[in-house]
Amino acid sequence: MADPRRRFIAGATCPACGALDVVQWWREGGTEWMQCIRCDHLREQPDAPTKEPAPARPLTIQDPAKFRR
Ligand SMILES: [Zn+2]
Repeated sequence: MADPRRRFIAGATCPACGALDVVQWWREGGTEWMQCIRCDHLREQPDAPTKEPAPARPLTIQDPAKFRR
């Protein structure tokens, strides 16, 4: 099943079987997929690498008298 949208990732190793240059990558419906053609390991990649959102730091109410000079 040759799919022109799929392309091999050079130098990528399959996380499941550890084989080299067997991982295909393609995008479908806003999702990136990676599949190993050797063991059929399928992995869904988030569309964009999202960083862990910084935890909202509660504002500390400072005593204004502290800043008064
Ligand atoms: Zn594999």
